[in-house]
Amino acid sequence: MHYPINEMFQTIQGEGYHTGIPSIFIRLHGCPIHCKWCDTKYTWNCLKSNEITIEKLLEKNISNNTWSYIDVKKIILNIKKQKWKSKHIVITGGEPCIYNLSSLTEELEKKGFTCQIETSGTQLINCSFNTWVTVSPKKHKNTLYTSILRANEIKYPVFKKEDLSYLDAILSILNNRKKCHIFLQPISQNQESLKICIERCTIKNWRLSIQIHKYLLIR
Ligand code: SF4
Repeated sequence: MHYPINEMFQTIQGEGYHTGIPSIFIRLHGCPIHCKWCDTKYTWNCLKSNEITIEKLLEKNISNNTWSYIDVKKIILNIKKQKWKSKHIVITGGEPCIYNLSSLTEELEKKGFTCQIETSGTQLINCSFNTWVTVSPKKHKNTLYTSILRANEIKYPVFKKEDLSYLDAILSILNNRKKCHIFLQPISQNQESLKICIERCTIKNWRLSIQIHKYLLIR
């Protein structure tokens, strides 16, 4: 199975439940959702003219719209070649769940990695049983019922107070059927959004996610 990859790098997970964990990020290219405030718009379209070699991909140290089509064996081989020590893999995007991630996550687990997927929850999720699924629902986009039930963590981006009503609707679907960690994340380090998140987290005993990589100026 091949996947179009936008970038692969080692860093510290800066958001949600696994904040602070050394991680290897695999950013898949392609997203049909097109959120207004998306900070990875360069991943949206898989243009053939932007395809590069895996060697060039691994040298990339800026975010841009180039990508490489790589199979699972080569992904694992290149993680070894880079001598990265992190044992946690974050598969993000773009929207990674437009692809079937079962073979990628299963093979990575066989090699001793733990896997996490970050998804909008708008697509069917195909991954290994043990993969940690972070669903980050987008207001006015159709979050699937199956994604909400599969989520280990819901990380909800907040800009204004009214945004919280979509989260309330989602949580009413869960209705205590599953233990799920809830995080609120202010959009774009906006101070007003941060205040709203802190207030609601405190009332509900939810957790705050503040994208520490943006404050630490790391990838
Ligand atoms: S789903 Fe994610 S990658 Fe796609 S547009 Fe929305 S924020 Fe961007």
